[in-house]
Amino acid sequence: MNLNISKEDKRKIITSGTYLHSFCPFCKVCLIEKDELRFIIIENDDQEGTLSLSPYLNVFLHETSIQIPKGSEAKDIICPHCKKSLVVQGDSCHECGSRTIMIDVEAVSRMIDFYICARKGCSWHGISHEDLDDMMLDDSLEW
Ligand SMILES: [Zn+2]
Ligand SMILES: [Zn+2]
Repeated sequence: MNLNISKEDKRKIITSGTYLHSFCPFCKVCLIEKDELRFIIIENDDQEGTLSLSPYLNVFLHETSIQIPKGSEAKDIICPHCKKSLVVQGDSCHECGSRTIMIDVEAVSRMIDFYICARKGCSWHGISHEDLDDMMLDDSLEW
């Protein structure tokens, strides 16, 4: 992504390291606990564990309480509060084609839809096309 923005481009850039104040899109409860984004992850063998991600944009952290081989795609990722699935139907990771999950992120005084790839080892994330109209993510190879 080109970071040299022309004068006509008034979109806000969410810069690397920005704290992503994240909420469940269903129950609206904050997903951050002890400075980590927390989810419940369900593996293909139905093993359940916790998944922790960094709440800072482009700071990559992916920790799980259960052993998951790198490259493995989670069967489901659910909200730890309301237990609803956060997996997006009909959309997939723009890098590897795996499932993605969507959470609400409070940015620039309003909520945006934020997408995260469900495959371990893939750091793709993005925002919706509507939100891209007035903001963009600082680009990085790693989250
Ligand atoms: Zn929830
Ligand atoms: Zn991916």
